[in-house]
Amino acid sequence: MVTTHNLGFPRIGAKRELKFALESYWKGQSSRDELKALGAQLRRRHWQDQSALDLVPVGDFAFYDQVLDMSFTLGNLPERVQGFHGDALDNYFRVARGRSTHAADEQAQCCGGVAAGEMTKWFDTNYHYIVPEFTAATEFNLDASRLLEQLAEAKAQGVRPKPVIIGPVTYLALGKAKDGSHKLALLDRLLPVYVELLETLAAQGVEWVQIDEPILVTELDADWQQAFNFAYQHLKNCPVKLLLATYFGQLLENRRLAVNLPVAGLHVDAVNDRVDIEPLLNLLSVDKVLSLGVINGRNIWKTDLSAVLDWLEPLAEQLGDRLWIAPSCSLLHVPVDLDSEQRLDGEIKSWLAFAKQKLDELAVLATSLNQGCDAVRDELDANHTAIAGRRDSPRVNNPAVKAALAKLDAKLGQRQSPYTQRAVKQAALLKLPKFPTTTIGSFPQTPEIRQVRHQFKAGEIDEAAYKVAMQAEIARSVREQEALGLDVFVHGEAERNDMVEYFGEQLEGYAFSQFGWVQSYGSRCVKPPILFGDIRRPKAMTVEWIKYAQSLASKPMKGMLTGPVTILNWSFVRDDQPRSVSCKQLALAIREEVLDLEKAGVRMIQIDEAALREGLPLRKSQWQEYLDWAVESFRITANGVADETQIHTHMCYSEFNDIIASIANMDADVITIETSRSDMELLDAFDDFNYPNEIGPGVYDIHSPNIPTQDHIVQLMKKAAERIPAERLWVNPDCGLKTRQWSEVIPALTNMVTAAKNLRATVG
Ligand code: GLN
Ligand code: ZN
Repeated sequence: MVTTHNLGFPRIGAKRELKFALESYWKGQSSRDELKALGAQLRRRHWQDQSALDLVPVGDFAFYDQVLDMSFTLGNLPERVQGFHGDALDNYFRVARGRSTHAADEQAQCCGGVAAGEMTKWFDTNYHYIVPEFTAATEFNLDASRLLEQLAEAKAQGVRPKPVIIGPVTYLALGKAKDGSHKLALLDRLLPVYVELLETLAAQGVEWVQIDEPILVTELDADWQQAFNFAYQHLKNCPVKLLLATYFGQLLENRRLAVNLPVAGLHVDAVNDRVDIEPLLNLLSVDKVLSLGVINGRNIWKTDLSAVLDWLEPLAEQLGDRLWIAPSCSLLHVPVDLDSEQRLDGEIKSWLAFAKQKLDELAVLATSLNQGCDAVRDELDANHTAIAGRRDSPRVNNPAVKAALAKLDAKLGQRQSPYTQRAVKQAALLKLPKFPTTTIGSFPQTPEIRQVRHQFKAGEIDEAAYKVAMQAEIARSVREQEALGLDVFVHGEAERNDMVEYFGEQLEGYAFSQFGWVQSYGSRCVKPPILFGDIRRPKAMTVEWIKYAQSLASKPMKGMLTGPVTILNWSFVRDDQPRSVSCKQLALAIREEVLDLEKAGVRMIQIDEAALREGLPLRKSQWQEYLDWAVESFRITANGVADETQIHTHMCYSEFNDIIASIANMDADVITIETSRSDMELLDAFDDFNYPNEIGPGVYDIHSPNIPTQDHIVQLMKKAAERIPAERLWVNPDCGLKTRQWSEVIPALTNMVTAAKNLRATVG
């Protein structure tokens, strides 16, 4: 008999109940007991949703983050929060976000706020975790209370629990040594706490523990490989069975390492790693369980169940009871329940599966394997109809788009002349001063703007009224920029709620859910649009707004677009063609917009690629392939314009060291990046590479309410000028200003403009 299980369930709730409960607690509007009760209620509901499984995950629920939970379990709290006298949950929030609630921090009589823990991306997902902090002196102490409490709840509910923990090697790998010490030196101190934890769980009657080691799908240095052997030898005699879980990709060169670790079972990603399974089977010893992640835990598409069964049946035959099946990874990365969707187009809905539906698919697979396919004939037929419907749908397949893509050639991505020649023509036309000033695109999204958009979406005002209101906001942005004396204007993006959704809504091939929320960090969620079909732009998307803004302005107005790579990386995308193909379709659509803007007389066009870097694959050996098609897509989008048209791009970070050649290869005339907090040191990558085009290093940290002084900006720009020739420097904020208020933006930009004047007079 095949066993079914799940690696983790989304905890935010089908209607984002956890988000609202957290935020209400943090504001002091509800009690800690109410928050804890809501947590328990969600766990109960989610176990109920998973009750058909043979084993359900326990400990995957976190009030903020599962990595932070693990830090608390291991007693690894940063020094700055030790000695807190209040409730442990409040202290947990202090690590996560710098404070819990005002009242709770005051009551605990400690100084209130602390520095929040650093956050970073969880592998290649859009989820962000709180980075564990280490020093050479870090000690660990077991606190199993959270796990034990949830275990007791699960048992009381009558499900068969499988506690989920992060493994010791991945835990160390995810953290940061604050003092530069070697993290692996802590392994000796860490392992006894894991032993104690496993013994504690065993004492509660736990049979299986899922121990997550996803860094096994990344490239590992020899000392980290060794750490795996050492760690699992150490845990070998613990009185529980360990299911070592890997996910998010292929084991490849780590296959032998993973297979030989002395654990009772191994879970592998059988969506991204199918070709690896055969050789893996040959290595797997006959007493080990093999758990295959056959349902994609990262996307929202229905699984082709017959295809999976064709592949699984011989394996089930071979493995017998040793075969387990599950989603490929925790379902944290997909929305909860497709049944919540009331407005989604019926045909598209029939192609989708969210977390609950994915578990239903798993049950069908298991029944078919255990009892034969006739036991689930109806389900398999319905699945087949949906899969075939999607494959053949004219809404998915647009022959014109496919034909355009087949005709792509390198010329499309090639500017007419090299940068040095373009720069001369652009300078003659644009007549910008040295150190030109500009902003990144958005101006404050005021409550009034959001109110009007809300009314429009709710049908309370018509399109004409909405347009008038947005034009008034654009006019206001232009007036402010005239008064500030900026050199290059933006329209302010009042009409956009989100830089991806805005374009998705106007492109064919995109759909939007109502409740398709996925946790991004803490209480924050995103609702990625769904790219389901060939991409076509039925009509111009931004031209009218930009033309209107330009008509009011005495200075050049930048056209403002989101680039294809960013649109792709922030969407749920198709699984029936490579990401690169979807990206190039987007590139062709946005290219048309670029050309329409140019035709309308727009002389500068900014194409934001905020998410280009975050699309990098987990393995460095696969970076170049990604960068090649990502850069090619950008070039297709941008480079059809005349030499005189100036192309800008923007990225919200500045670690370019290892990808600078690709960034240069995008060949944008101007790139604006985030640098203000790094004191311009990150420009070294551009300096060392001799980056040939223009750069606007951010001088205003838009994440902070602080107003940068003129002096500070001058100092930053002088540091920049030590690295980049002054005639190629621009002066601008780190990113868009949509989250700031006008009362902050005006003085900050006033200082920025004065600083630029000062620089013109004093530098070069
Ligand atoms: N143009 C966008 C803005 O100004 C860019 C946002 C981003 O890079 N994340 O808001
Ligand atoms: Zn940005």
